[in-house]
Amino acid sequence: SCSAADGKWSAGELQPYGPLPMYPSAQALNYGQAVFEGMKAQRSAKDRIVLFRPEANAERMAEGAARLSMCPPPKELFLEAVCKTVEANSDFVPPQGKGSLYLRPLLLGSGPILGLGPAPSYTLVVYCASVGSYFKGGQLTPIDLIVETRFHRSAPGGMGGTKCAGNYSPVLVTQLAAKKEGYSDVVYLDAKTDTYLEEVSSCNIFVVKGKTIRTPPLQGTILPGVTRRSIIELARSRGYTVEEVPVSVDEAMQADEIFTTGTAVVVSPVGSLTYQGERRQFGEPGQPGPVALELYDQLTGLQQEKLADPFGWVHPVC
Ligand code: PMP
Repeated sequence: SCSAADGKWSAGELQPYGPLPMYPSAQALNYGQAVFEGMKAQRSAKDRIVLFRPEANAERMAEGAARLSMCPPPKELFLEAVCKTVEANSDFVPPQGKGSLYLRPLLLGSGPILGLGPAPSYTLVVYCASVGSYFKGGQLTPIDLIVETRFHRSAPGGMGGTKCAGNYSPVLVTQLAAKKEGYSDVVYLDAKTDTYLEEVSSCNIFVVKGKTIRTPPLQGTILPGVTRRSIIELARSRGYTVEEVPVSVDEAMQADEIFTTGTAVVVSPVGSLTYQGERRQFGEPGQPGPVALELYDQLTGLQQEKLADPFGWVHPVC
């Protein structure tokens, strides 16, 4: 925990999973000071437990904390909390290639406050759970997306670039409605012009045409995904041209292939995109596109230490 008075963090401790004691007037519950991260620990081919770019998550949490006027946890403290959680739960890390231990570092304005203002104190908790694939059908089963035309996920100058809790509740109605109609998830458009793709509820999006891959640029309205950043580098190293430029929904409907990226979804091929009642199917039903498949194999191979890691992204748990 951290007291806002001096900004100093005190060391934490391991506790069995259970309820968090909180005041009803806890800042996070009333005014939304809450940012989180999503990470995965995996058992690698070298028979050890590894994390993927954990420092990037530490940095993103600190940036989000700054945007929400919260005490940012120091990188070392964040990494120690994550590693200790993994070590204490190593029995729950699935066998190699069979899933992972999902880790959820959560920073809360836990101290009580009645009037609007930042919390007097902060708590960082890390909890975890064993997970398999995010979308049903398995990791490389293509997903069906629908472009949302009524609600936006974020606006220029807003919070879209942070992983704050408040970004997720406003879009639940949208996501639930789409799932009811048989879609896997929703793609959001930019709030200014309703023309350009932003991202999916919990992942970033990439559009392929020939050897060129495009993904929406980071302008503060989408989450700077750790997987997004990694896929950009990985694709470039494999000879693709990757451009971070606005991608219109019309361009996406004409693409050769679309895929999404995220810690939870890894690289998920998109089987169809529906926009204003028009459905575009990509490739053969049920088959991942070749670029998504190649990048999935490369990324998971590297994350599971089956392939060499020239980037230095894979970290054995301390
Ligand atoms: N966008 C949103 C809105 C997300 O919640 C996530 C998941 N953290 C992502 C993109 C992908 O980010 P990452 O690759 O860091 O998991």
